[in-house]
Formats: sequence, C-alpha cells, structure tokens
Amino acid sequence: MKFYALDRTIKALIFDMDKTLYTSAEYVGSQAEKLNAIVAEQRGLTPAEIEKEIEEARKNWADSHGGSRPSFSNIILSWGFTMEENVRWREEACVPEDYLKKDPKLRETLLALRSLYKLGVITNNPVSIAKRTFACLGIENCFDALAGLDTCMIAKPHEEPFKKISGALGVSPEYCVSIGDRYDIDLAVPLKMGMGGILVNGVEDVYSLKGAL
Ligand SMILES: [Mg+2]
Repeated sequence: MKFYALDRTIKALIFDMDKTLYTSAEYVGSQAEKLNAIVAEQRGLTPAEIEKEIEEARKNWADSHGGSRPSFSNIILSWGFTMEENVRWREEACVPEDYLKKDPKLRETLLALRSLYKLGVITNNPVSIAKRTFACLGIENCFDALAGLDTCMIAKPHEEPFKKISGALGVSPEYCVSIGDRYDIDLAVPLKMGMGGILVNGVEDVYSLKGAL
C-alpha cells in the first residue's frame, strides 16, 4: 500500500472497484478475455491479433501521454468504437456471479469507514455490473455514491467521474482520497485535482485502511 498527499482532513473515500474491492485474477482475466474476443470479432481479427494491437495501442498512447497507461476503454474509443458499444460489451463480458462471493470482512471494514467518512465508488465498468458486484460481495448499501462508465459516459482517468462523485458526496476534492490499484487510472488525475491517493494491491489492503488512516 502506498500513500499520496494524505496530510489533510479527510471527509470522503472514493474507491475503484475491480482489483480494489475484490482480488480475483480469474475474474479480471475472464473480463479481459471476453472483451478482447468481442472486440476481435468486431474488427475481424483473431484473439491473438487483437492482443498484439492492444499492446501496440498501449505503447502509442504512452508515447503521446507522457508515459501513462490508457484504460481499455481509451483504446477501443481510439479505434472509433462508441461508448455505448463499450458499455454493452462490458455488460456481456462481466459475470461477477461466477467468480465472487460474500466478503464479510470487507463489509465490516466499509461500515466502520462509513461511520467516519462518506464513501463513493468509481468504476470503468457499467453501473449494472457494479451493482451486481456489490451484491456478490455482500456490500450493497455500503456506499453514498456510485459512478460507472455509463454515468458520465467517459472513462477514468478523465476527471469528469471524479468531479461527479465529489459533487454527489457533497465533499470538495481537497477533502477526498481516491483509492485504487492503478496509479495512472485511479490516482494521477485525482491527485492533480487536489485529492489524496492510496495505491492498493487488492482488497487485503482495503481491510487495513481504517488503521492506516
Ligand atoms: Mg481497478
């Protein structure tokens, strides 16, 4: 776990979802595999060919964005697909029920944190998938605000979803801390907006947040 700019009064915590509120290499892998297969079919390529193209696109993006990594959404939008298609394909590709189970320790952690802070979630998956993921983990009703890919129709690391959640929580960025597993996607922009940040390695780090803050 790594902390950034936490010397502040904290009033709200904004969590990423995938690989932050759960740790499941199998589920994350299945999402990528299914999404790749859908996009490959759309482009008339094999899964191996699309993986090569994605790697190439990541390199090009990094070269033109100061070395930062793009989200998968950024890549497929740069290929001319629409955000509506991106949302629909993710709804097809994500089946949290097949991989995730109730996490009482996470629920207990979130409820304890919620007695101290407002809690929000921003995910680059659609809102419907986020709600199903919360149900699988047993953490429904643990958050004060949620923004998915189809809330602003724009993906992290754009600042729009962070502004949206800060507004929905009624907490200005200087009192917010963004928590996620990818620095370039979850932390770089919020830090620029004046938030604090915590880089986690998975849900195991989230369990220890209360003591760490
Ligand atoms: Mg993540």
